[in-house]
Amino acid sequence: MNEYEPLEVIGKGSFGTVRKVKNKIDGTILVRKEIEYNSMNSHERNQLISELRILRELNHPNIVKYYKHDHLPDLKSIHIYMEYCQGGDLSHIINNFKKNNEKVPEEFIWSVMIQILLALYRCHYGIDCKKVNLFKNEQQHANSPIINQDSVIIHRDIKPDNIFISKTNTIKLGDFGLAKMLTSTNEFAKTYVGTPYYMSPEVLMDQPYDPVCDIWSLGCVLYELCCLQPPFQAKTHLQLQAKIKRGQVPEIDQEYSQQLRNIIKDCITVNPNDRPTCFDLINTLSIRFLRKEMELKELNVHLNEFKIQLLNKNDELKKKENYLSAQERKLKEMEIKIEEEFELRKRQLELEAKELRLTYQREFKLVVEQEVEKIKNTNTTYKLKGPKELEKFDGILKTL
Ligand code: ADP
Ligand code: MG
Repeated sequence: MNEYEPLEVIGKGSFGTVRKVKNKIDGTILVRKEIEYNSMNSHERNQLISELRILRELNHPNIVKYYKHDHLPDLKSIHIYMEYCQGGDLSHIINNFKKNNEKVPEEFIWSVMIQILLALYRCHYGIDCKKVNLFKNEQQHANSPIINQDSVIIHRDIKPDNIFISKTNTIKLGDFGLAKMLTSTNEFAKTYVGTPYYMSPEVLMDQPYDPVCDIWSLGCVLYELCCLQPPFQAKTHLQLQAKIKRGQVPEIDQEYSQQLRNIIKDCITVNPNDRPTCFDLINTLSIRFLRKEMELKELNVHLNEFKIQLLNKNDELKKKENYLSAQERKLKEMEIKIEEEFELRKRQLELEAKELRLTYQREFKLVVEQEVEKIKNTNTTYKLKGPKELEKFDGILKTL
């Protein structure tokens, strides 16, 4: 039996439906990508298998978490279970700001930049980025981390629709459908569906490429967050290609800081060799400071959670303590009651014993009197016993 109850459809992917599902036991909500592989050609199928392989390896707070997948041969479908991002994707956010004629706050743009860079660091270098040490300049001590070529993942499809927002406002990179391990063949531009607004010039021209193509796309997404439209737009595919190859973008509004505008401009550098890598960006001074700030905020959140846990534990302990003292009071009351009952019973028993003794004495006295009478009245007995015996009986009678 399937442990998930299907809920509403929340999106249409290129190969199928994206649906919310609920775990029947603990009620957790996940997202299920329902893919019918029958409608795929062998290349697309390989792409899907590669997505699953990639997702399984990625465990990072800024990457949409993959849980498991089910193969349903009867339906010719594969169901992929993933973390549900309640805040939707960045394209919705951009559309909302556009509709309301509002600017996206600079702070939010920096936070998207840093969190996607942290996700890309994990993908491009196969390891998590170290926490910031403001007293040590990482770049002075090392170049980019040593890369194990087999563990390099290039996302290749970074765009607002593939950047998600969790319930707690964490930014998460998702949809690794077009991602690849560095070792597989280079046929990406041909398999791309949709308008390649965010595609780097080298990928677009089917030239050899490396992880910095993701930096170009990230630059385009950040540009769109500032200007509410992608940096390169055109009526035809060819015109778009030409614009991307030239790499000229309209200036970003001066309302945004020079630092932010410079970083975005650097990302949208046509020559991939001149473009900053994820390592370069993550170690620039402004980003290091902001990362530190984020780390401190996170630490504060953890601390507060810990405080709440402690308070809860304290409450629990107090309740237990109260319960125990109530029990103790009850026990004391019971003890007093038992003592009182015992005293009462003791007195009753004493009275009963006294009465019993009196009755017994009375009966004994009666019997003795009767015996004496009998002796007095019988001559033979009188003679046999003699006056001495009678005196003894009288003595006993007197003591009674
Ligand atoms: P594709 O890019 O193949 O078309 P996506 O994985 O990007 O498919 O999903 C399509 C849409 O489904 C997204 O734009 C988003 O609205 C929704 N969606 C996908 N994954 C999630 C998720 N983890 N949480 C919330 N919504 C999601
Ligand atoms: Mg997508």
